[in-house]
Order: sequence, then structure tokens, then C-alpha cells
Amino acid sequence: TTRQRVTVLGATGSIGQSTLNVIGQHPDRFTVFALSGHANMAQLALDIIRFKPQFAVVPNDTRYRQLLELLPNRNCDILIGEQALADVASAAQVDTVMAAIVGAAGLKSALAAAHAGKKLLLANKESMVVAGALLMEAVAKSQALLLPIDSEHNAIFQCLPADQSQAGVDSILLTASGGPFRQTPMEQLLTATPEQAIAHPTWTMGRKISVDSASLMNKGLELIEACWLFSVPPEKIEVVVHPQSVIHSMVRYIDGSVLAQMGSPDMRTPISYGLAYPDRIVSGSAPLEFSQLLQLQFDQPDRVRFPCLRLAEEAMAEGGTVPAVLNAANEMSVAAFLEGDIGFMDIPRINEQVMTRLGRSPVESIDQLLEVDRAARAQAAEQIKALR
Ligand code: NDP
Ligand code: MG
Repeated sequence: TTRQRVTVLGATGSIGQSTLNVIGQHPDRFTVFALSGHANMAQLALDIIRFKPQFAVVPNDTRYRQLLELLPNRNCDILIGEQALADVASAAQVDTVMAAIVGAAGLKSALAAAHAGKKLLLANKESMVVAGALLMEAVAKSQALLLPIDSEHNAIFQCLPADQSQAGVDSILLTASGGPFRQTPMEQLLTATPEQAIAHPTWTMGRKISVDSASLMNKGLELIEACWLFSVPPEKIEVVVHPQSVIHSMVRYIDGSVLAQMGSPDMRTPISYGLAYPDRIVSGSAPLEFSQLLQLQFDQPDRVRFPCLRLAEEAMAEGGTVPAVLNAANEMSVAAFLEGDIGFMDIPRINEQVMTRLGRSPVESIDQLLEVDRAARAQAAEQIKALR
């Protein structure tokens, strides 16, 4: 049997490492074609030694030299820059691409995999938020197989009819843990620190998505992502707060049935689902223990303490370039918050200001969207400077 050849973009991150963990459990099924890292060359070197990819991709000359020094016998070709990411995502020798770079920085490589007709495992939700129309168009044209890795979307994918049609579907229930500030009063949110924001109650993740979970921007981004992935309007998606993160999302059918996908909060479950699809393989995640009398709670999201959810709903309703603007503003405000330059509640404030200032245009091309992304970042940078 031939093994699936996998490129892991963002291999050094939280999702990238979980992906390599699953691949490492199934050497008979998968082989690694390429890995990418951005700053963490020590981790990238370890993974190159372990998984022996043909290619590694780093962002610049400095990282290239650092990585080279860490590899005693140079057993793989090191490529540099964004075009190289797109190249290893679309190379003829690749079957499967895990898109696990964080932010709009992952857009071009994810799009390249889609255009090349790969099996695309999409963790990088920001690329779908920025360019959903273009990504879905590329997938349709090239017959790529797009499988969502975000746990909620993976759950929805599993709960939809097997042919992914909307037959009999009433609506989608998108679950949210509520994050570390689910019960935190507004006055404490004003002074919340990065350490508090990234201390997620149920998931261990990268810093940016952890802050997004705390502000509920993550749920907003996921709402937009779900609209594109499953071609449903935002009104057909209901956000349900479920603090235990045992149900990963649900689909409501017109006959009154609600199908849920459950599991431990461990990203290796959706990752292994994507890697092995349509088969099922062992992922290493702990089985749910129902004998421990699992408690499942449900609540509604609070759009007053968490305005980012409302902003995302508005952005999707407006459409065009507005979600791209919101995403860029949010990447900037979250980075500034993590640097200690602005407060937690400044994140929604800046996001809203940038959204209002930049307005809406219809989506034309990837270059236009990247230009919108640049303009929104510049606008956000000004607002951040004013607050500092
Ligand atoms: P991490 O921050 O842990 O990892 C991000 C990865 O991207 C790292 O490999 C990092 O390299 C690399 N990277 C960072 N900046 C750039 C850049 N400008 N260009 C190229 N590569 C870059 O993030 P996560 O793994 O948590 O998240 C990755 C994506 O998956 C995000 O879009 C997130 O929303 C999504 N996701 C994550 C989940 C999770 O549980 N973590 C759950 C659902 C979705 P280095 O570390 O070497 O600097
Ligand atoms: Mg998610």
C-alpha cells in the first residue's frame, strides 16, 4: 500500500505538533513530504530529524542559518519564503496538506493547496474568513477535498448527511466553551491580563487563538468559517455556550432530531479524522468516561461583554471585504494586547473602529484582499498608537 504524503504548514505550532503526533502513531499510513516553521527552529529541527521530510520551509536567511546549524547531517532541502510555502502545498508529490499556520499569513499556501486539488485539512480559519469565496471557488474548480479541522466544523461535518448535502437540515448549533472569562464581570475584563486571557479552561492552544477564545472573536471567526464551509447563511447558525467542550457542535434536522459529535477536548480527534478520512484511526485522545457522570451545561452567549461575536455576525451579514477587514484588525489588536500595549476591551473597540472606517467592497481577487488586509492593519496600527 502507498503511504499518504503529507505537508504540514505551521508544523511547530499547537496544531502542527498534534498533527505530527498522529502521523507518528501511524508510520504505515503517512509519510511527511514537507514541514514549515516560523520562529521555533529548535522544534523544526527535531521534527526534521524524526520525520525526514524532503523539504523544510523557513521565513528568511537568519532562520535558514539557525536551522542549518541544528541539523548535523543536512538530510532535507531548506526553502525560504512565502512562495516556498505555496510550492510545498501544491507540489505534485503531495497528497495531503495540513494548513496550520496562524492568521492571514496562511492564506496563500492554503489557497495554493486548494487550487492544486489536494486533500486540504484546514485548521487556519483566518484564511477562510478573509477569502472564503475564493477558497471555496478554488476547491470546487480543482475538486480538492476540503476537510475542516477546527473541532466545531469537524463535528458539523460529521453530523451532516454523508454526502454533505443540506437534505433535511434545519440549522447548525455552533458550540462555544465561553473561554476563561465566561463569568467574568465587565469591570474585571477591562483590566484582564494576557496571562489570564490565554489560560483556557478546556483547550491548550496557540496564544492568538487563546485570546480569540477569551474575547469570543474565535466563535465569530468560526461562524464566518461555517457559513462558507457549509454554504449556510449566518441566521441558520446558533451559537450555544457549552463550558465542558464535550459536545463539539450539532446539526438540527427538520424532523426534530439533533445530532451531536462528542469527544474529549483533544485536537488529535479532528486531525486524525481529517488525515484518515473516510477511515477512522486511533488518535491517542482519551476516551470520554460517561461513568464519571459527565455534566453538560448550555447557555447563551453574552454579546455585551463580548462584542467581537456581534462584530463578526455583522461582518458576515455585510459580506464582501468586511470579514477580511475585521480579521486584520483583530490580528493587530490581539498582538498589541499580548504585548501589553492595549487593554482586553480595546480589542473589540479597535476592531469596530477599523471595520467602520474601511467600509465594504465586493470581493474581486486575492491581491485585492491582501491589499485590504494591509490597509486594515495600517488603520489598526494608528488606533493602537493612539491608545498606547
Ligand atoms: P500556534 O501559534 O501554536 O502555531 C502557529 C504556527 O504558524 C507555528 O508553526 C508558527 O511557527 C507558524 N507561523 C506563525 N506566524 C507565521 C507566519 N507569519 N508565516 C508562516 N508561519 C507562521 O497556533 P495554533 O497551532 O494554535 O493555530 C494554528 C491555526 O489553527 C490557527 O489559525 C488557529 O485558529 C487554528 N486552530 C487552532 C486550534 C488549536 O487547538 N490550537 C483549534 C482550531 C483551530 P513558529 O511556532 O515556529 O513561530
Ligand atoms: Mg474551534
